Amino acid sequence: MQITVIGCGYVGLVTATCFAEMGNRVSCVDTSTQRINALQRGEAPIFEPGIEALITTNLRAGRLAFSTDTAGACSRAEVIFIAVGTPSAADGSADISQIVAVASELGRTLDQPAIVVCKSTAPVGTACRVQSVLDHQCQRRQVAWQHRVVSNPEFLKEGAAIDDFMRPDRVVLGTDDADAERVMRALYEPFVRNHDRILCMSRRAAEMTKYAANTFLATRISFINEIASLCEQLGVDVEEVRKGIGSDQRIGHHFIYAGCGYGGSCFPKDIRAMLQMAAQYDMPMPILHSVEARNQQQKTWPLRMLKRELGNLHGRTLAIWGLAFKPGTDDIRDAPSLVLLDALLAGGSSVQAFDPAASDNIAQRYPEAVKEGQLKLLQDPYAALNNADALVLLTEWKQFRQPDFHLVAQRLRTPLVIDGRNQYDPQTMASLGLRHVGVGRQVAP
Ligand code: NAD
Repeated sequence: MQITVIGCGYVGLVTATCFAEMGNRVSCVDTSTQRINALQRGEAPIFEPGIEALITTNLRAGRLAFSTDTAGACSRAEVIFIAVGTPSAADGSADISQIVAVASELGRTLDQPAIVVCKSTAPVGTACRVQSVLDHQCQRRQVAWQHRVVSNPEFLKEGAAIDDFMRPDRVVLGTDDADAERVMRALYEPFVRNHDRILCMSRRAAEMTKYAANTFLATRISFINEIASLCEQLGVDVEEVRKGIGSDQRIGHHFIYAGCGYGGSCFPKDIRAMLQMAAQYDMPMPILHSVEARNQQQKTWPLRMLKRELGNLHGRTLAIWGLAFKPGTDDIRDAPSLVLLDALLAGGSSVQAFDPAASDNIAQRYPEAVKEGQLKLLQDPYAALNNADALVLLTEWKQFRQPDFHLVAQRLRTPLVIDGRNQYDPQTMASLGLRHVGVGRQVAP
């Protein structure tokens, strides 16, 4: 099939490369010339395991092309995916202006009927809005055909995005148009060969499914974080409780790890968007309000623990391992690391940090602190520990799971480890002379 993907971010690039890998011809468009130039050279502008190899292979095979020219890239497309950003507006609602702008451009320039797919996460009613924008332009241009708009939310996880896209748990298609459904089913068929995992529903239900999924996962995280806080007070180890409840098949082990809060480009903004959708109907959503409030509080946990253990942090040097909002990505949007860095840098501490992928993004966010040497972004995790008063673990990259604790103890000025992802065993740490503070765990005496 001839496909165009508009937006070369995490979702657009993965969508485009995976469809190309299945043999489709895919054109990708982005407004960022810098991004497109890099992609044309076969360089991925984002960190996502496996993406660069897919780009290179499919570029060479002639199945993938990158451009800044939307009209040109769409001129022969049967299916056009919109995968642009839907950031939070000032009031917390999802800002769909990028989607509407793309829809207007498509309506003005498309010279053939196409299936236009909303891949971005967007509030209930957005696909209908895109349909009316396109219909309006078709009427204005007095063309005989109509575009068909499908909602097809994306469920990939950054860090495992290619695998998620290639082997989806399910593909949600929101459409009541039989022909659009047939084409979309055919497009996704290679990805769901083993089991029929395609769920077809109304456009509004598809949009709501995405928000309900993300807010439910966020709810599980805030729930276990709340339990962890009580565990801390009661002298209970939340890790034992986690295993105890996770083994119940109705609960399962996913998304019940206590930690220093969720971040990323999706959960925080999607909760805010859901709350705004409800606010339009004067409908309170106390559960989701609490999920968000608990997460805000949880992101301050590392700072609170540092203060509890070290007192005044002014003039202290702190080491941080992990800056990305989760392992496997360079994405720092709404990451817990930002809350800690903001507070430490404003409070006069020095920070020595290491992250395998996110340091460039952090450097762009804190240029002054980097320039003045208050924030050092290091290439070696152990170099970050030199003369530091504590190590704070914020992202559970695999390489942090079994570090050389002897070296950790040797390099730190104070043998304190604030374990924001519950990666380490308190007893083992104690035996090595390291004071370990975990989330909802007991500090060994
Ligand atoms: P992103 O910010 O990484 O990428 C968006 C891209 O769209 C940018 O490169 C931007 O330059 C481009 N763009 C904006 N306007 C454009 C236009 N008019 N024409 C062409 N390109 C344009 O965003 P993302 O993380 O890929 O997310 C995209 C959408 O998918 C969001 O709605 C998000 O909520 C949703 N989503 C994201 C994830 C994730 O893990 N990142 C997962 C599922 C769903």
